[in-house]
Amino acid sequence: MAGNERIFSGIQPTGRKHLGNYIGAIRQYVEGQDRGEGIYCIVDLHATTVQYDPAELRERMYDTTAILIAAGLDPERCILFRQSDVKEHTELSWLLSAVTAWGDLNRMHQFKEKSEQQRELVSAGLFFYPVLMAADVLAYRATEVPVGDDQRQHVELMRDVAERFNARFGEILVVPDGRYPEVGARIMNLQEPTSRMSTTYGSEQGTVYILDEAEAVRKKVRSAVTDSGTEVRRGSDKAGITNLIDILSVIRDVPPGEIESEFEGSGYGDFKGAVADAVVNYLGPVRERYAELRPDESAIDEKLAAGAEKARAIASDTLADVREAMGIGPARG
Ligand code: ATP
Ligand code: MG
Repeated sequence: MAGNERIFSGIQPTGRKHLGNYIGAIRQYVEGQDRGEGIYCIVDLHATTVQYDPAELRERMYDTTAILIAAGLDPERCILFRQSDVKEHTELSWLLSAVTAWGDLNRMHQFKEKSEQQRELVSAGLFFYPVLMAADVLAYRATEVPVGDDQRQHVELMRDVAERFNARFGEILVVPDGRYPEVGARIMNLQEPTSRMSTTYGSEQGTVYILDEAEAVRKKVRSAVTDSGTEVRRGSDKAGITNLIDILSVIRDVPPGEIESEFEGSGYGDFKGAVADAVVNYLGPVRERYAELRPDESAIDEKLAAGAEKARAIASDTLADVREAMGIGPARG
């Protein structure tokens, strides 16, 4: 373990995880293991804030855990656990609601977007989502939160909550910094390149799933919506090509400008072919390891249980301090 950063991030066990999740979040988790103490949580409680099927949630829990391990998270080198196994998250969420402004929650873009998609019920849980997310991070006194660009507002909110808590009750919580990738913080849907690639909405044909077969990936990349021009360069009027340049830049680990120079003069067809090959080679090994790991559910259960135990040790310490400072429960001797 290197460095003093304590890194925390969560991912929902919903739907099928995609290239945006991989590039914006999972890739950063893996890298964080070498830079500090990585604490990664599969947030099943967040998944209950929209319509869902209970049996499917359990399946997705295994899927998501296996994807994370296949991507390179090593439960020996990081803490990998299921949110609902550590009850401190829900308790802290309530306690933090005392220092969360209703008006701030009311301004959250994610709530606005997701509430519009709900056909049956807009749950209070969906409104409260950012408070639970603040509790997830603050329970570990994390210094850093690796997330995609869409989570900026939630990170700002948790910083405000921590600051307000400390001002009111004493310096107990750590104010975390968001960490967003320089390139790839917002991967766009290939069919609708002005919308974020997402687990729960947007064209399926434009969403590259981590577990897609090579042929499906090729087809999706090759049919990506571009523009009527011919130049492989970034631009505000070239959302589709810009997105593909970003994807290739991340996979090759070179600045986007280098991709532009390399493909100067070549047509969109050749460029898309190169992106398709790169994505196939990038995700292929993850899909292979996933296929080995996923069937052994009891091994996954064991890893999650061991992770929860380590997580609980840290979170329960924070909760004891928070309760004491807030005058909740008997005074500590
Ligand atoms: P939903 O759209 O239902 O919220 P999601 O695809 O955002 O699902 P989450 O589990 O909520 O999936 O997000 C996990 C992580 O992936 C978060 O850190 C989020 O910021 C990041 N992320 C999600 N979509 C993208 C994207 N298109 N580009 C980069 N990062 C992304
Ligand atoms: Mg999300």
